[in-house]
Amino acid sequence: MKLDRYMSDSIENIVNKASLQKDDIVRLLKSETDEAQKIYKKAEQMKADNVGKKTFFRGLLEFSNICAKNCFYCGIRRENGNTVRYFMKDDEILEQVKYAIDNRFASVVLQSGERTDRKFIKRVSSLLEKIAYLVGNQEIGITLSMGEQSRETFEQWFRAGANRYLLRIEASNKALYKKLHPSDALHDYERRLQAIKMLQDMGYQTGTGVMIGLPFQTYEDLADDLLFMKNNDIDMAGMGPYIEHKDTPLYKYRHQLPSKRERFVLSMKMVAILRIMMKDINIAATTAMQTLDPVGREKALKVGANVIMPNLTPVKYRGGYLLYEDKPCLDEEVEECQSCLEARIAMAGDEIGYDELGTSRHYHQRMHRKN
Ligand code: SAH
Ligand code: SF4
Repeated sequence: MKLDRYMSDSIENIVNKASLQKDDIVRLLKSETDEAQKIYKKAEQMKADNVGKKTFFRGLLEFSNICAKNCFYCGIRRENGNTVRYFMKDDEILEQVKYAIDNRFASVVLQSGERTDRKFIKRVSSLLEKIAYLVGNQEIGITLSMGEQSRETFEQWFRAGANRYLLRIEASNKALYKKLHPSDALHDYERRLQAIKMLQDMGYQTGTGVMIGLPFQTYEDLADDLLFMKNNDIDMAGMGPYIEHKDTPLYKYRHQLPSKRERFVLSMKMVAILRIMMKDINIAATTAMQTLDPVGREKALKVGANVIMPNLTPVKYRGGYLLYEDKPCLDEEVEECQSCLEARIAMAGDEIGYDELGTSRHYHQRMHRKN
């Protein structure tokens, strides 16, 4: 019965529905190459009509790889003794923030491993204060991506100037989440979910996302991931392919994974379907997509993404921030990366939102509804 419905519903009919159900999304994720073009076309149009043909830059600073957690997929997990740990000096971070502003990015992302010790919390607060001093009257977007924190910490950082936060749910299916993390209080699904909700309540522009092509993950899981983002009313999304790392427990399942090409194509479909489902959010074209395809980020921009995060981490630290293998631009300073990026974005048909905060339109709507 269900199968009949799949057969009779053309891709065109599905992408034009007012609201996509789980079986619709599964059908789209399983689409063949020529069918997928129709999904991409629709997503491209949704982007143009709702957020415009524009890409926003966020300067990414991976300021420390010290992490208290042990996620099974991640190359900088606590127990990976092969990683040389670092914490960038405040001056080095400020210099890169200045670079971002001078280059009219108007927005930075500060990312690190997860730590909840007092020293770390204070250090981040003081860094945020220094950034506020540096930028003076200019309003900039400051996104944090430092894992789960207490309400007090989130509030403290908000007061110190942070206004956006990225906290991926990683896998919205609780059973799958459990397979990807140690079973202890530090890696608890409910705790992560609560943290996402807390951020939204507090007024952070809130982003979440998942990894695509994980071991044990099904098409149904991915459809649920997209519905999770929709049902939780998120403002921004960052999703990308899962890429194996040899120093992690999940590496032993590498033979069960879809090919890298398949993971890339699935990621493209996820971005495009999410744009169709959530027309006014910000969607990142992630570094992991670039890792599997040299122009992967630009391809993602073409099918609905509207944010790109040029890596501003100084080259000497980049080798230490290997969440996964084959990360690109390990030996390229940002200036070199940026000039080619501009040309490639233009090829994807977008203009660049220089000097614009690029606030998620969905965020405005959500805050308006709340007040
Ligand atoms: N510690 C913070 C932020 C840094 S990790 C946190 O975990 O939230 C940032 C993201 O990198 C994670 O959310 C995860 O989705 C992604 N990541 C980690 N290992 C990965 C891998 N092997 N392949 C693809 N993405 C990975
Ligand atoms: Fe730490 Fe984040 Fe990696 Fe998990 S994904 S080990 S929290 S850096």
